[in-house]
Amino acid sequence: MTEQRKARIATASLAGCFGCHMAILDIDERLIELMKLVDVDRSPLTDIKRFTRRCDIGIIEGGCCNEENVHVLRDFRRNCDVLIALGQCAIMGGLPAMRNAIMHSDAPLRECLDEAYITGRYIRNTTHNIPNDPALPLLLDEVYPCSEVVEIDYNIPGCAPSGDVIYETLAGLLSGKFRGFERDKIRFD
Ligand code: SF4
Repeated sequence: MTEQRKARIATASLAGCFGCHMAILDIDERLIELMKLVDVDRSPLTDIKRFTRRCDIGIIEGGCCNEENVHVLRDFRRNCDVLIALGQCAIMGGLPAMRNAIMHSDAPLRECLDEAYITGRYIRNTTHNIPNDPALPLLLDEVYPCSEVVEIDYNIPGCAPSGDVIYETLAGLLSGKFRGFERDKIRFD
């Protein structure tokens, strides 16, 4: 009898706060059952930086605020059969997308950087420099939801989504029985 192979999962954190990854750990003791069904490939949870194999499910936290985010997201789309946007930052930009509202300036990105590094109320930057090391990924003009960059198969709403919703979604997808989740399980606290 041939043993069924485990599903392969990968995760990435783009422009988010890592709270959605912490919510994955809120699955708690059910992680033990889940790990019998899946192997985790590329992920901050494994510290594997590149795909070692094609994955069945990719889970994305955060939207795209810089060119590296776009590169990572496209790499996940290429290497994952199913791609999930986890949390409001991935789904609609979330808190980082608040900078998209700075539209009254001729140079909104510059205004945003000035506020963050020079003029902000609590900033103590005596050099008045804005970091510009070539190793830093270039910022995009706006923060983009994942679905504006690649096709997304499923959204798991919430900030952060509960461990219950994440577990039920993954368990449902792995068993082929995912039918969506109940509205009262979506939380934004
Ligand atoms: Fe953090 Fe909420 Fe964004 Fe998740 S959705 S990365 S918890 S701010």
